[in-house]
Amino acid sequence: MDHLEFWKQVLLSIEPKLKRSNFVTWFQDTAILDVNDTTVAVGVPNPFAKDWLQKKYHQFIIDAIKSIRPQIESIEYVVMSSLKAGQDERAVNIQTLVEKPVKSIRKLPNKSVMRVTHDGVQSKFLNERYRLENFVVGPDNRLAHAACSAVCSRPGSEYNPLFIYGGVGLGKTHLLQATGNAILKRFPESVVVYITAERFMNEIVEAIGRRNTKQFKDRYRQVDCLIIDDIQFLGNKEMTQEEFFHTFNELYDNNKQIIISSDRPPRELKGVQDRLMSRFGMGMIVDVQFPDYETRLAILHAKCPEHNAIIPAEVLEFIAFNVHHSIRELEGVLLQAIAQAQLENSTPTVRSVGLLLKKLSKDEPVAGFDEQAAHRSIARAPEDVIEIVADYFKITKSDLIGESRRKEIMLPRQISMYLIRHELGRSYENIGLDFGNRSHTTVLHGCEMIIKKLRTSTTLVRDMNALKKEMGL
Ligand code: ADP
Ligand code: MG
Repeated sequence: MDHLEFWKQVLLSIEPKLKRSNFVTWFQDTAILDVNDTTVAVGVPNPFAKDWLQKKYHQFIIDAIKSIRPQIESIEYVVMSSLKAGQDERAVNIQTLVEKPVKSIRKLPNKSVMRVTHDGVQSKFLNERYRLENFVVGPDNRLAHAACSAVCSRPGSEYNPLFIYGGVGLGKTHLLQATGNAILKRFPESVVVYITAERFMNEIVEAIGRRNTKQFKDRYRQVDCLIIDDIQFLGNKEMTQEEFFHTFNELYDNNKQIIISSDRPPRELKGVQDRLMSRFGMGMIVDVQFPDYETRLAILHAKCPEHNAIIPAEVLEFIAFNVHHSIRELEGVLLQAIAQAQLENSTPTVRSVGLLLKKLSKDEPVAGFDEQAAHRSIARAPEDVIEIVADYFKITKSDLIGESRRKEIMLPRQISMYLIRHELGRSYENIGLDFGNRSHTTVLHGCEMIIKKLRTSTTLVRDMNALKKEMGL
C-alpha cells in the first residue's frame, strides 16, 4: 500500500468520528510524507492545521494508523505549504474522498433530484449545513422561522403552502433547506425534494426533449414535501408554470407539504399566472427582512465557531455595524476577514477589517474607521507601541507600564518591550526607562521570553503579526 492509499484509509476511519465540517476543514490537503519503522510524518498545509491536529485529533489519528500498522508509535506533523495549492499528488482532497461514501445523494448522476432505491424514491439536494438550530432568530425573521418549525411538526397541514419571501441573501434558502432537513430527520421515510425553480424548469425541458414527461410527473407525485426555491424564476415560463400548476394541485390535494421561496410577495410576481398566484396565497405567507444590529451581531457570533475562528468582539461589532444589505454580505465580510488573517497568520482587527470593508464598498462610508489614519505608518515612538499593545489587549497604558505581575499584564508588557526593541531598535536601557525605570536586564529577559514563546505559541505569533500590522509594518 502506498502512502496515499494508507492515508486515505486512515482518513476514512477517522471521518465518521468527527463533525463533517471539522473533518473537511482540518484534514483537507494533508498527506503522509514518510513512514519508517515506528514513525509517520504527516504533512499539513499550514500551522493552524498542525496545531489543531496535534491538539485535538492526535488520538484519533494515531488510533487509526495503529489499526492499520500496529508497529507505529508516533506521528510527526510537518507544515508544508506546497500541499495547500492542491498540486502535490500526495495530498488528499477531502471533498472527493468523502463524497463517495456519504449516504445522502448530493451528486446524482443523471442530474435528477431524485433517485429510485430499493425502498422507493428518495430525494435530497439538501445541505446539512443548513439547520433550523443554526438559524439565528431576531424580530425580522421570527415569524418565518416559527412557520418553518410548525411545518416540521405537522407537514401538510395548516401552513400549506408555506410561502417565504424576501430580498437576496436574507436566509430564504437556509430556511427552506433547514426545514427539509428537519422533516427528513423527523420522518426519515418521507420523500423530501428541494429544487430551485430554475432546475425544475430544466428538468421539464429535458423530459420534454426525451419525450417522457410522464416519468417526470410520476416522480413528483411520490413526493411528500416539495421545496421550490426562487419561484420568481418561473415568470413568463409558461410551459413550466403549467406543469408546476398540475404538480402543485396533485400534491396539495393529497395533503403533501409545499414550501416556496421568492424574492417578492405573490401578488408582485411578474409574468406568473393568476391561478398559481392565488394558490401561493392559500396557506401561509411570511417574509424575511434585513435583521437589526443585535441580530446581525448574534449571527456573526454564531458563525465564528462554524468557521473555527476566534475574533475579538469589537471586530464583530464593527462588522455588524457596517454591513447594510444582506446576511450573505455579512458572512462574506466575516469569511474574508478570517481568510486574510489566516493567510497572514494574524488576528483580524478593526483596522484590517476596516480596510477590507473600504475595498468592498467603495462609496459607502465605513463607520468608526479612519482610513487615512489606518494607512499612515503610525508607530514611530515607544508610546505609540505602548498604546497599540494596550488597546489590543484591552488593558490600560498605566497597567502596561506599571508593576503588576499578573499574567494578562506581564505578557503584553513583554510583547511591547520586544516590539520596541526589534521594530524601533531602541536600547534595552532606554526601554527600561520607558517602562517605569526598569533595569536593562529585566527588559532583556522580557524580550528573550517572547523570542522563546514565539517558537511554540501559534497564538502569540498571530497576536504579534496583528500588532505589527497595527503598527503599520
Ligand atoms: P437567500 O436564499 O435569501 O438569498 P441564503 O439563505 O442563501 O439567502 O442566506 C445567505 C447566507 O446567510 C447563508 O450562508 C445563510 O446560512 C446565512 N444566513 C441567513 N440568515 C441567517 C440567520 N438568521 N442565521 C444564520 N445564518 C443566516
Ligand atoms: Mg436563495
